[in-house]
Amino acid sequence: MQIDFFGAADTVTGSRHLVTWGGLRVLLDAGLFQGFKVLRERNWSPPPFEPRSLDAVVLSHAHLDHSGYLPVLAKRGFKGPVWCSHATRDLAEVLLLDAAHLQEEDARRANRYGYSRHEKALPLFTKADAKKALSLFKPIREGQAARIDGLSVTLTPIGHLLGASAVTLAHGKEKLVYSGDVGRQHDLLMPPPQHPGEADVLIVESTYGNRLHPPEDVQAELGAIVRETIHRGGTVLLPAFAVGRAQALLVVLQRLKAAGEIPAHLPIYLDSPMAIEATELYRRHRRLLRVPQREMANLCDGVRLVTTGVQSQRLANARMPSVIISASGMATGGRVLHHLKALAPDPRHHIVFAGFQVGGSRGALLVGGAREVKIHGEWVPVNATVTHLEGFSGHADQGELVDWMSRFHRPPRQTFIVHGEPEASDALRQRVQRDLGWAARVPPQGGRFTV
Ligand SMILES: [Zn+2]
Repeated sequence: MQIDFFGAADTVTGSRHLVTWGGLRVLLDAGLFQGFKVLRERNWSPPPFEPRSLDAVVLSHAHLDHSGYLPVLAKRGFKGPVWCSHATRDLAEVLLLDAAHLQEEDARRANRYGYSRHEKALPLFTKADAKKALSLFKPIREGQAARIDGLSVTLTPIGHLLGASAVTLAHGKEKLVYSGDVGRQHDLLMPPPQHPGEADVLIVESTYGNRLHPPEDVQAELGAIVRETIHRGGTVLLPAFAVGRAQALLVVLQRLKAAGEIPAHLPIYLDSPMAIEATELYRRHRRLLRVPQREMANLCDGVRLVTTGVQSQRLANARMPSVIISASGMATGGRVLHHLKALAPDPRHHIVFAGFQVGGSRGALLVGGAREVKIHGEWVPVNATVTHLEGFSGHADQGELVDWMSRFHRPPRQTFIVHGEPEASDALRQRVQRDLGWAARVPPQGGRFTV
């Protein structure tokens, strides 16, 4: 088998691993590059393979850094199928259509205000491209296999995000396992990762390959932040990924209210049409979660759902102690930007980032202590308190990754470590070699291996 690492090599975004095996070409994930501009610009280069030549794409999960390149592939002639779990398909619909909408909006705004470097700013893909991609999805039922010629594809739930799965490709007696993103043992929403059992070749993520999560009680921390902020008359702004993180924050805030740790009447706003839609999907697929059914049923009790842009703008101008959950989670776009613009200059407010912030994003700049940030071409001073709650991470840390790997029945003959900053991937490689005694390597961007 031959593997080309076309993304998430040397970095955490743009997952695209092309497996050529038994005369078939299967792309594992089709993600967008995110974060630093040099990375994002890679999304605009022609794909290093002919999309028409792919026999299938398998999606580990719906996050855009794993799925967001599909509309480009569809636009360029890829005819499917896209295999994934049912929940991944449902979430991908929400995420891809929203991403297309943001792309179209950004292009429109850049053209209107003339801040594009190009003659005419174009979206990377449109809603029509996203719909074309979605029409190619063929979800695989739990416990079943998809087949194409001699190759079979099975999925193993891996925590991390609703529908997220490790992927096993099998050809004859040989197996390749791709971990996708590995979830945590003690996640708020998702059960612990399951295990596919055996692999001859393993591709594993390493987002937290060099770190251990601090033992953090996110409920106690968020409770203290909310109490302190409303005491000084401020608002807590929670930039949150609309899918997964917003729901986890709602669970925690409702538990804080139920325990009397924050006032029961404190207004909580969910200001993101996508998060509102995703919350419905989480409730529909609630048997896949670890949260008690009744809690999921009451998740939005007393929460004010902000749907229209006008309501959102009005909320940004209001000055009442409250909690606002808004997307996007790394403040790279979406409604959270006008809340940031309104709240960041005032020291009474508190901006809390929950989860991983990719380098180069506004979120990473803010948690890094930036005193001003550029929003819609304008510099905004940052006087509000900024906190990073890493306990909300959806990724296994180094110890959890090694534990998960140690459950393979026999050592894979080769392990490829992807989806990490170079120091994270290398630290995990060293631990895998030292503690498990396996052959492991970190493929470079564009690297091709025959194994
Ligand atoms: Zn992910």
